[in-house]
Amino acid sequence: MIEPQISEIKSLLSTPKNIVIVPHKNPDGDAMGSTLGLYHYLKTYNHNVVVIAPNDYPDFLKWLPGDDTVLKFESEQKESKTLIDKADLLFTLDFNALHRAGGQMADVLETCNATKIMIDHHQQPDDYATYTYSDVSMSSTCEMVYNFIEMLEDTDRIDAAIATCLYVGVMTDTGSFRFPATTSKTHQVIGNLIDKGADNSQIHNNIYDTNSYSRLQLLGRAMQNLKVIPELRTAYITLSQAELDEFNFKKGDTEGFVNYALSLKGIIFAAMFSESHKDHIIKISLRSKGDFSVNEFSRSHFHGGGHTNAAGGRSDEDMKSTIDKFISILPNYKQDLSQ
Ligand code: 5GP
Ligand code: MN
Repeated sequence: MIEPQISEIKSLLSTPKNIVIVPHKNPDGDAMGSTLGLYHYLKTYNHNVVVIAPNDYPDFLKWLPGDDTVLKFESEQKESKTLIDKADLLFTLDFNALHRAGGQMADVLETCNATKIMIDHHQQPDDYATYTYSDVSMSSTCEMVYNFIEMLEDTDRIDAAIATCLYVGVMTDTGSFRFPATTSKTHQVIGNLIDKGADNSQIHNNIYDTNSYSRLQLLGRAMQNLKVIPELRTAYITLSQAELDEFNFKKGDTEGFVNYALSLKGIIFAAMFSESHKDHIIKISLRSKGDFSVNEFSRSHFHGGGHTNAAGGRSDEDMKSTIDKFISILPNYKQDLSQ
């Protein structure tokens, strides 16, 4: 983000505003951490701020400072619409195309009169915002919110609540500081957040050590279902709706499963297919190592996108047809996958 834009945003924020902050649908740690981190920061200026999530998110995020203030568009439409309609400023965080907020909410965001500010690290941003802070090299949107506060020369305002929220998103999007987008600057930011009051060990505990017995059993089933295509260095997992039901699936339970497939020796491309009867789709999570772009793969074949090494998508066909399609496409990428 360049200096004139920062000055303009500073001047916009110099008087109290009605501000709505929105993460993407099915928000993850980075989406909720960045929106709530920015929420607490803007609150220090006495703006009238609210985070409106398109829908619900996993329980392991429900301890975040400010969680109790979050509105969910899906279940609180009327109030959400009113707030979006009277917003002066609309921040969209951790996504870069309005449809990622989900059908009905996307329409409301599209037509509202608020000045839009995007902060995001996914590839190929749409051009809907007045101010676009997009950087695909960033570890997480939370690291970008830190940079945003730094650009506004306001790091003194970072308190324990802001630090905790931002720590969560950097930690979850970097796989606890190990994915390639983790830089020395990321670690410096994390160090500063700890100095500001983020309790790193406790945060890790809150996110990762709250497994239910049934989630671990579901992980066991997912691992039993793991298939490997060694000649294409690919591994994939399937979970049917019946299997999800058997282990009492709750939102967020399959988070991270696909990484086990990617951890197999020699594997550079991993996928997880999970059936959703409610949405009438097969949800797809894709991960890779190195140059193979799952963003491109998902955009080309599965209506999705994301980053080079982590992307999501969906299939409108049943599980069998989806897997058949996936397997039939793979040989087109033989060059990239077999070296
Ligand atoms: P996950 O597999 O965890 O659902 O998603 C992996 C990454 O891809 C996340 O950064 C997520 O925000 C992004 N992503 C997931 N689904 C989509 C999608 O349909 N479109 C785009 N552009 N990004 C997605
Ligand atoms: Mn993110």
